[in-house]
Formats: sequence, C-alpha cells, structure tokens
Amino acid sequence: MPLPLGEIRSLLDGYPRTPTVGTVGSHSAIDVADGAATEGLPNLVLAQAGREATYAQYFRTTRDHVGGRRRGCVDDVWTFPKFADIAAPAVQERLRNHGVLLVPNRALSSYVPLSTIEEELRVPIVGSRTLLRIEERTERENYYTLLERAGIPIPRAIAGPEAIDRLAIVKLPHAVRRLERGFFTVASPEEYRTKSERLIERKTIAAADLAAARIEEYVLGPVFNFNFFFSPLVPRAQGLELLGVDERRESNLDGLVRLPAGQQLELSESARIPEYTVVGHGTLTVRESILEEVFRLGEKFVDASRAHYAPGILGAFCLQTCIDKDGRPTVFDVAARIGGGTNIHLGLGHPYGNALWRMPMSTGRRIALEIRHAIDSNRLKEIVT
Ligand code: AMP
Repeated sequence: MPLPLGEIRSLLDGYPRTPTVGTVGSHSAIDVADGAATEGLPNLVLAQAGREATYAQYFRTTRDHVGGRRRGCVDDVWTFPKFADIAAPAVQERLRNHGVLLVPNRALSSYVPLSTIEEELRVPIVGSRTLLRIEERTERENYYTLLERAGIPIPRAIAGPEAIDRLAIVKLPHAVRRLERGFFTVASPEEYRTKSERLIERKTIAAADLAAARIEEYVLGPVFNFNFFFSPLVPRAQGLELLGVDERRESNLDGLVRLPAGQQLELSESARIPEYTVVGHGTLTVRESILEEVFRLGEKFVDASRAHYAPGILGAFCLQTCIDKDGRPTVFDVAARIGGGTNIHLGLGHPYGNALWRMPMSTGRRIALEIRHAIDSNRLKEIVT
C-alpha cells in the first residue's frame, strides 16, 4: 500500500521552521547542496562508504570563526555501508528528527527499492514520489504510456525483431552493470540476430532480457534534454519553467565518433558496436523557433501527470528528446525528478534559467528557492509527497 499523502504531509508538523535539504550522494547531489547553500538552507548528503570523499572531503563546507561559509557547499554527510540503508527505520527517524526534506534523484530510485520508497519511506520527498516508477521501462504503466496519453510524440514502437524495417534501437539493461544500458541499434531482423548474438557473447546483454526489450524507431537527430521545473505555488499558467538544456557524453559511442572513418573500420567488428554508458554532460541551447514546441510538450506532461498521478509533477523534471530534420522533438525518455545533466548548470545557471530568474539559477538553487517560497507562504505541504 502506498503511503497516504496525508500521512507524509503531517510529518511536517514536527519539522523545524528551517528544514535541511537532503539528497543521496551521487548523480546531482553537489547541485542540490550548492543550491541549498546559495539559498541559505542547511544541507545533508547521504553517502555510501567508499563513495563519500567527493562530498565529505572535496566539496565539504568549511567555515570561518564566525560560522560564515569559507569554501565548499556540503554541510553534513552521513555515510552508510549501502545506500539502501537510508530507508532503515532508525535512519528514517534520524532524518525526521533532523528535519530533512529529501530531494529525489536517480541514485535514490536506483539504490532504494521503489516499493520501499512508495510504501515505507516516511520522510517527506520534495518532488513526486509516485512518478519515480514511470522510469522503469519494464513496468506496464511507464513513461511511454504517460507520454502517449499526454499526446507527446514518442519514437514509434516496433512489435518484435521480425518487424524491424528501419533503423531501430533495442532497449534493455546491461548484462553485468544492471543500472547501465545494453542498448544497440539494428536495421533488419537479420542484423538483430547477428548483433544480439555477438553482444550476448561479449556479455554486454543477457538473453533473458532480450525478450522483454523495447524495440523502437531510432530518431535521427541530436539529443536535447530539457530540464524543466513545475511550481504548484503560483497560478497554473506561470507554473512551468525551462531552466536549462543539456546533452550527454556516452562511452564508448562518443569515443567511436571521434575516430576518423578509416580507423573506425579497422576496429574489430564487436568493438564497433557502441555502448551508451553516460559519463558526462554538455550544455546546449535550441534554435529559438523550436522553444515554443518544447514548452507545449512540457505543459502536456504537467497536465497528464496531474491527471493520472495526483498531485502530479512537483519541481524538477526532464524530457529527453531527439530533434529531427524538421525541427520536431520526439521524447524518448523522462526523468520525473532532477535530471543528471543539470550538473552543467551547477553554480552557474543556464541561459534560459538565468534569463527567467535574472540571476544564476541552477536546478539545485531552484529547488531550494521553492522550499523557501513554500516556507514563507506556509505551503510546504503542497510541494512534498
Ligand atoms: P536513455 O537511457 O533513454 O536515456 O537513452 C540513452 C541514449 O540512447 C540517449 O542518450 C540517446 O542517445 C539514445 N536513444 C534512446 N532512445 C533513442 C531513440 N528512440 N532514437 C535515437 N536515440 C535514442
């Protein structure tokens, strides 16, 4: 049974006037901590042993003798043997006693089971708890079904390997690194057979995952990830903001395309098959005439999320698109929480977010600002789930 919204909201009754912004220490945690620091809110990173130095050492806040921030942005770090330990009842109690509002990121939804987040994690989440599950492509109700209901263009689904009649992408997890992708592209049933066999041999994919894989049209065009923010604290017409746009660097795909064609052909055949492991991000803007459509897609997503997953999207979300030769964005993935690519505007903001807010506005800062606005207007309960 999912935790009732009323129960989560009532947890705030015992919270201090100034809460602590908490997040899981990976993915976008520096942005969240930096944003909280900029907006004058204390922050906490929940780290895993062996992966804590970035936060506990290198970005750690140091203060001068009167308590002013001298350098760094991470105020406090709690380290656990495993990320999943943050959902232990005693830790939850400690988080509540500390007045922590949890900002969900992909590390939270990857390392803490979704059923635990939905049914047991009694710590207020600044964002959309029930929407985290739509990212799982294997769920019957996922982001594709929500996008379809919203009337947002998605890549055409291909019924099965025999129906592959154009360039397609096969989406399944990596065989060994389960949180990574084992995606591959194919243009015919024959290529599907030979390529999938080779990738199974190479242990990039597992035969068992192939049957459940989604096969969809490959949209030829550059990737633009649109980082939006939706505020329920203002009139609906002013709720949607575009804070920034990013793209990913994927290994070894980006390595391969940096080789001259002759050298690519000299690689062994299996080394020519790219993998899509995200290893970094870059910043982008879009041709201005495309923005109008981008906002339309964002509005449709907000409306559909409110209609089907009440109270709908709250705060940061990301629509990942490819834009084709006619300038049309197709959404191939959704993050119903802060996107990893928001790292590019950490501390600096982005042309769109800054133009809107008249100051450097990263996603982390926008989240902290929303918390501040909610506190000031006694509406904190409206931005947590
Ligand atoms: P994802 O795991 O959905 O974020 O996708 C990883 C990468 O696969 C993206 O960054 C794109 O480069 C690529 N990709 C996914 N779906 C498509 C598609 N339908 N057409 C073209 N590229 C895609």
